[in-house]
Amino acid sequence: MAEFPTQARVVIIGGGVVGASSLYHLAKAGWTDCVLLEKNELTAGSTWHAAGNVPTFSSSWSIMNMQRYSAGLYRGLGAEVDYPMNYHVTGSVRLGHSTERLLEFKRVVGMGRYQGMDLDILAPDEITSRYPFLETHDLTGALYDPYDGDIDPAQLTQALAKGARNMGAHIERFCPVTAAQWTGTEWVLTTPKGEIRCEYVVNAAGYYAAEVGRMFGRRVPMMVMSHQYLLFDTIPELAEWSATSGAKLPLLRDVDSSYYLRQEKMGFNLGPYENPCRAHWATPDDPMPEDFSFQLFPDDLERLEWHINDAMARVPLLAKANLQKVINGPIPYTPDGNPLIGPMPGVPNAFEACVFTFGICQGGGAGKVLAEWVTEGATEWDMWSCDPRRFTGFEDHDYCVAKGKEVYGHEYAIHFPHHVWPEGRDKKLSAVHDRVAALGAEFGPYNGWERALWYARAGDDTSEAAQRTWNREGPWFGAVKAECEAVRDACGILDLPGFSRFVIEGAGAAEWLLRQITGKVPNVGRLGLAYFADDKGRIVTEMSVARLAEDRLLLITAATAQEHDKAWLLRHLIPGLSLSDHTHDWSTQILTGPNARAVLAQVTDADLTKPWLTWQMAQIAGAEVMLMRVSFAGELGWELHSRVGDTAAVWDAVMAAGAAHGLRPFGMFALNSLRIEKGYRAWKGDLSTDYTVLQGGLERFVDWAKPDFRGKAALAAEKQAGVAKQFVTLRVSAGAFDPPYMSTIWHDGIVVGETTSGYYGHRVRACLALGMIRSDLTVVGTKVEVEIFGERHAAEVLSDQPVWDAKNERVRA
Ligand SMILES: Cc1cc2nc3c(=O)[nH]c(=O)nc-3n(C[C@H](O)[C@H](O)[C@H](O)COP(=O)(O)OP(=O)(O)OC[C@H]3O[C@@H](n4cnc5c(N)ncnc54)[C@H](O)[C@@H]3O)c2cc1C
Repeated sequence: MAEFPTQARVVIIGGGVVGASSLYHLAKAGWTDCVLLEKNELTAGSTWHAAGNVPTFSSSWSIMNMQRYSAGLYRGLGAEVDYPMNYHVTGSVRLGHSTERLLEFKRVVGMGRYQGMDLDILAPDEITSRYPFLETHDLTGALYDPYDGDIDPAQLTQALAKGARNMGAHIERFCPVTAAQWTGTEWVLTTPKGEIRCEYVVNAAGYYAAEVGRMFGRRVPMMVMSHQYLLFDTIPELAEWSATSGAKLPLLRDVDSSYYLRQEKMGFNLGPYENPCRAHWATPDDPMPEDFSFQLFPDDLERLEWHINDAMARVPLLAKANLQKVINGPIPYTPDGNPLIGPMPGVPNAFEACVFTFGICQGGGAGKVLAEWVTEGATEWDMWSCDPRRFTGFEDHDYCVAKGKEVYGHEYAIHFPHHVWPEGRDKKLSAVHDRVAALGAEFGPYNGWERALWYARAGDDTSEAAQRTWNREGPWFGAVKAECEAVRDACGILDLPGFSRFVIEGAGAAEWLLRQITGKVPNVGRLGLAYFADDKGRIVTEMSVARLAEDRLLLITAATAQEHDKAWLLRHLIPGLSLSDHTHDWSTQILTGPNARAVLAQVTDADLTKPWLTWQMAQIAGAEVMLMRVSFAGELGWELHSRVGDTAAVWDAVMAAGAAHGLRPFGMFALNSLRIEKGYRAWKGDLSTDYTVLQGGLERFVDWAKPDFRGKAALAAEKQAGVAKQFVTLRVSAGAFDPPYMSTIWHDGIVVGETTSGYYGHRVRACLALGMIRSDLTVVGTKVEVEIFGERHAAEVLSDQPVWDAKNERVRA
């Protein structure tokens, strides 16, 4: 027997499909000196009882990327590692009951095509040609995914493990990790077999991830659901059909009824995502057992009754079958249902690859992503949707349970652009929340902070049902138009709690920042936008920088970027400099519009002639306020930064002064409309590591004259070789819908790019899209088409300048 390894470069904790895939991909990357520790036998966790469905479908670009990669990997894995396994690529039929669902399908078909997959839409009368035993009278259509199928999860895990072992990696079974200690240079993990030291550690402990996380002082945002599938006995008609056709039925997903139905041998496997649903190990009277290896929960069929009946009505053949077995197992959920893959927040040399709800179909891609994080510190695809740092620590137990149940109960729900899910709300409230609410605000959470989305007027429909539409013109549309027009013609105020803010100081702070960003560091008293690139020149983040003193810098960034950006800054900070986080001490309001100066003049004696991109300290209502002359709405304006305790007094004073000047509150929907007219990018939509700074059209923020900055060499090489695709603004003759993220852009019958955001600009009265397009097509006036929910709409490339106030005369007024 091989000796217990006492040293490794990477230790992975957990031997489910994700741990095994992580080990396999690390070894593939040449990191063979890696060890996987599993407390029981491989697959003892969720992997053991998973149904093994392997869809590629997702309405998220990054998740689709992972699933597409997994399916491709699994097709060749058995032969590659010489471990044959059961992988049936049967295709799948996903049923639609509504026009909204069909639109969702059409969008995914477009995304899939862009990723090289031929998904297809079936008309109601075509569906039975794919799936003969189906009732179709009430359907609007279906999506056909030829790559879908099912795999044996245990065989898949063993194949990945074999592949890893073949390359030299080591797996130690029956070896629980019981403690972890950071020495300052390495991790020491305790196990009953002895200690093991390693440079990096990965938490791949599935539904035990929170327990393992605690060993690292990390609270993993997660909860555990019970999920069941039902196995039915042989049905003679099905057996006969299979024998005659030589085929297996495609996987059926009736997403509007929230279940899947799969042919399992000559019977069926029915898997509902029911609502109401059941959390496990969520209350003190239901503690999590120390070990649940290869165990299941008792059957609980009552809550599935509706789905069983619905499935029998949909596929009457099912009614002829006898129920043979029920599998009821634990399945972990994060508050948004996506897994955690990436750096463990606040913990050195530690990563997470855990809390997978769909670990079988995502495991292959997840291993690739994890291995890239560990070996390169960055991933090929932008993986923010799975980055552990998208959660920032406010997600307490009750929040995780409520959100987890909400996601599970709506696992197949459509995610509409203006819809706000109701659970887990009011976690962080602005100092003026009640005042904002009293004015009619409809709220949405940003990193837990409730912000006004729009202000409902008398008679506006504020029901959740009304938000479930792809249509641009929902109940908010008229209100948002009025808000935008107030900002254009008079003045608007947006309460914006939760901006992330960091102060970096110490001798040499400005010099240090100069090397971190692509552009210039503003002079004392001034502020500017700063772009942080990675070594490949890709866009990591964007922050506003206010130079408070020679070597004292205030960095302000998106609410959701708090942990991400802090980690990036800390990772590169040098001795002698300090970073402090002031996110919770301050709040912000945006006061913007041509009358903003007149409003401010009534409440402060600040010098309001100071130019654009300057800041000053001023007094409003007896409170010290930092006034920043900048406006994301693209009008004359200031950001009013006040201490949280002073924010209400500042708001009251400004609102009172504004009454005579047409001041009106506006919300985030209006801000989105206003910013897109200025071509201002949104982080993790328009700005992501999927694009370089040059592709992002941000060369004006690159100071080539600087001796060096991160990403400079890569960007210089890219510039010399020619930038292949570039940022553009498009005016789109869209119909009823604005183009969603990753709508493809066509030219001469081929796809030449994609949109990164789209919204209606009320000042220019047009649908606008920001996106990336083949460089030779960026010429102003070029005619292209944008595919929106399957229909191509004429669009035109606009000039590189903002559509609204091209010369920035209004912001500089
Ligand atoms: C009924 C059911 C059906 C499902 N069907 C599907 C499906 O069709 N398709 C799909 O994609 N997904 C499906 N899933 C989800 C899927 O099972 C999981 O997402 C996936 O198995 C997660 O894999 P993992 O490797 O992250 O975690 P796990 O498989 O849970 O592995 C974690 C491992 O960590 C080990 N471990 C824990 N603590 C320690 C420690 N301290 N030291 C060492 N080792 C430790 C555990 O023993 C375990 O083996 C289903 C889940 C359920 C419950």
